[in-house]
Amino acid sequence: MSFAPIKLRDYVRKHVKNNPGTNEREYTARLEATLAAYKAGAVCSNCGQPIWVIGSAEVGHMCFTCITGEADPSEDYEIAEACHKRSVKHTLPEPSPDAVFPDSDVDDRDVPF
Ligand SMILES: [Zn+2]
Repeated sequence: MSFAPIKLRDYVRKHVKNNPGTNEREYTARLEATLAAYKAGAVCSNCGQPIWVIGSAEVGHMCFTCITGEADPSEDYEIAEACHKRSVKHTLPEPSPDAVFPDSDVDDRDVPF
């Protein structure tokens, strides 16, 4: 289960081409606001899954499955920055090298005297 990642600008261009009546500036702002909401942890108002940014820009904060009724988004676009849905939630920040190797003398550990 994965989306086809696309850059926000590229998707706007594609959307405007397919929907000639679209206000490109307004649509871009709406997508950007939805992406920002996604990054802030917005979840589907129906089931609590991470939102589908492209669909949510149209219909409000909902996940792919609740918007389309399909489980597999293999043919559908998602903004590249929002494609890592499963790993975004509850992920701890990367540990710093100091946290991983607290002992700076670790390299000398096996040196015989
Ligand atoms: Zn949902």
